[in-house]
Amino acid sequence: MSDYVKSLMNEVKAKNPSEPEFHQAVEEVADSLSLVLERHPEYRSSKILERVIEPERVIMFRVPWVDDQSEVHVNRGFRIEMNSAIGPYKGGLRFHPSVNLGILKFLAFEQVFKNSLTTLPLGGGKGGSDFDPKGKSDNEVMRFCQSFMNELFRHVGPNTDVPAGDIGVGGREVGFLFGQYKRLRNEFTGVLTGKGLNWGGSLIRPEATGYGAVYFANEMLHTKDDSLEGKSCLVSGSGNVAQFTVEKILDLGGKVITLSDSGGYIYDEKGIDTEKLEYVKELKNLRRGRIKEYTEEFKDAVYTPLDASSDHNPLWNHKGDCAFPSATQNEINGKDAQNLVNNGVYVISEGANMPTTPDGVDIFLNNDILYGPGKAANAGGVAVSGLEMVQNSMRLPWSREEVDNRLHHIMKSIHKTCVENAERFNTPGNYVNGANIGGFLKVADAMLDQGVV
Ligand code: NDP
Repeated sequence: MSDYVKSLMNEVKAKNPSEPEFHQAVEEVADSLSLVLERHPEYRSSKILERVIEPERVIMFRVPWVDDQSEVHVNRGFRIEMNSAIGPYKGGLRFHPSVNLGILKFLAFEQVFKNSLTTLPLGGGKGGSDFDPKGKSDNEVMRFCQSFMNELFRHVGPNTDVPAGDIGVGGREVGFLFGQYKRLRNEFTGVLTGKGLNWGGSLIRPEATGYGAVYFANEMLHTKDDSLEGKSCLVSGSGNVAQFTVEKILDLGGKVITLSDSGGYIYDEKGIDTEKLEYVKELKNLRRGRIKEYTEEFKDAVYTPLDASSDHNPLWNHKGDCAFPSATQNEINGKDAQNLVNNGVYVISEGANMPTTPDGVDIFLNNDILYGPGKAANAGGVAVSGLEMVQNSMRLPWSREEVDNRLHHIMKSIHKTCVENAERFNTPGNYVNGANIGGFLKVADAMLDQGVV
């Protein structure tokens, strides 16, 4: 680590105490940028990195709501408007009990570079609440979303800040949020993405993050004249990203043997085929059940509960070729990374945001694994959100094929940007550096053009 990065990190930690995920995300990017800052003193003298790590605006608010038993609850709402140098703030909303300022700042920070990589004019933001939709009735979720939007509507708009979904925020929640925004503003605009198909949503938006992560893995494999055909894949999570990751892997001839939720994971040696995937979609999206139930339907599969006190996650200790972490941050630690390498896994494409701890990332890089970090590999979701915004502005929906082709093209372009920047800055094959540098340069140049703001 250079002296500059060391002193920057000391300052970040002093100014933002108790935000370890934010520190982790900043350190990784700052480390990647050492050579860039050496070659471009103008970024240093204009304090571009110092400005990029400070959100343009943080909004924090009370979200009171009433449950079905008439009891009053109070949650905390957030929106981090991180950087608008290249476009309106864009990034998802997360509803999960673990949500706090530091987690949302790490996600907003990552989002800035990810959005820049998509080639689309999108700034970076993120938001959410410590509200847990799990176990709540539809009416409770609706009342919460309405209360959340009662404050958020002042800060968002189709040319200002355009939220979308993330953990705990899917089509149902986006619908309730959009309905309340429309009522408060009396206007029908593309203020959120991930909308329903007959009220402004885009085809392929639900599929986009998972499909994109698989396209990215395939691009990495193509650099070795290889492909996903016949590959055995470990997938974590069983939500939006995981489901469509599995769908695209099957499409491209691969086999998927694991899925999980926060309770545990299933291992299906025979493979999760299309019929089993349909069962998972119904279980998770309609019945809102637990992945454990999979083994009641498919008796050959084995369920293992997650043990939070264990030093590793057994899901990552199976033989395979590829891994697609698609649940949450830091779900692969150093030991898990070593287990993956020992089991022959040589492709990692991150559907989740920052799912690998820094020591895990080092293990992947030191073992020459094809390692696609989240900000590149999972950028397909926000890319298609950007395409949804374009369609909303034109008031013209595109066909499924058109959106999927554009998504595929964007993922290839992100891959190319990563490869080229990694080479340009002397670390060929290092997608972490390639993604951080590629994402940073566009934002940094826009900030230079726009003066000290
Ligand atoms: P969902 O809410 O649809 O699914 C999340 C899945 O991850 C669920 O299976 C959930 O299990 C599991 N999970 C969540 N938290 C934990 C935890 N602490 N430990 C273990 N498992 C956990 O969210 P998404 O699929 O949308 O998001 C998954 C990841 O992908 C996140 O990191 C998100 O930031 C990232 N991402 C999502 C995008 C999108 O378009 N949706 C875009 C880019 C990145 P359970 O149901 O038990 O909570």
